[in-house]
Amino acid sequence: MNTPIHTPSLTAEDIKRFGPDPFSMFSRNLASVETRIAQACARAGRARETVRLLPITKTVPAHILRFAYEAGIRDFGENKIQEAVAKRAELQDLPIDWCIVGHLQTNKVKYLTRFAREFHALDSVRLAETLNARLDREDRSLDVYVQVNTSAEESKYGLQPGELLPYLDELGRFPRLKPRGLMTLAVFSTDLDKVRPCFERLRELRDTAVRHDPAIRELSMGMSNDFEEAIVQGADVVRVGEAIFGKRSTPDGHYWPVAANP
Ligand SMILES: *Cc1c(COP(=O)(O)O)cnc(C)c1O
Repeated sequence: MNTPIHTPSLTAEDIKRFGPDPFSMFSRNLASVETRIAQACARAGRARETVRLLPITKTVPAHILRFAYEAGIRDFGENKIQEAVAKRAELQDLPIDWCIVGHLQTNKVKYLTRFAREFHALDSVRLAETLNARLDREDRSLDVYVQVNTSAEESKYGLQPGELLPYLDELGRFPRLKPRGLMTLAVFSTDLDKVRPCFERLRELRDTAVRHDPAIRELSMGMSNDFEEAIVQGADVVRVGEAIFGKRSTPDGHYWPVAANP
């Protein structure tokens, strides 16, 4: 039997959401996501090692995340900084790498710079400036992905594609930020024909950007419903939540502006 070392006690609510054995559920789901990644890589003629899985742990309670750790997960991706700060406090005994993937207000920067390893939603000069100043004080650096709005949906988050190159020039002023690549949220649709152009757009933008700034190499794109397509289109990092941790009850509108008719 696979018995996790830590066995936090489960509430009725936990059992309803994660079953009586979250360790087995997460291990099983992780294995299945792993298989799907490997198959997509094979389909795209890419080596498996070229794709990184970033599990997105938002809404999963900290004590349940101990089972995720037991299942082998070390990178925890959170959308909201307050939630990440609270979980980190509860899980301080575990060597977890925290990654923030959601929009950040400049007044919350100080929380992020204390502990996050990477940030996937860099989208303004003011934010870059504030992050850099704070990182300077803490003598740290931060891996960043610049978020681009590839869906042309009315959205407050992400640069418009045409703003990208001038933005990358500005980033040169902020040496504490280590640009890794570009990030996007594709259009929210189960129709891959609608999703694919967003991934293609990000890849084209990266191909242009990398000639401008050689550090802009990676593509952070693809979620539970579309990560295989993202891999085929060149994703280096896929951000996967529900396929590993099960369905969330919080609506997506809590995390990003949702189009009325996706
Ligand atoms: C929640 C979230 C994901 C993962 O979404 P799933 O559909 O659960 O895989 C990816 N990226 C961001 C920015 C998120 O907030």
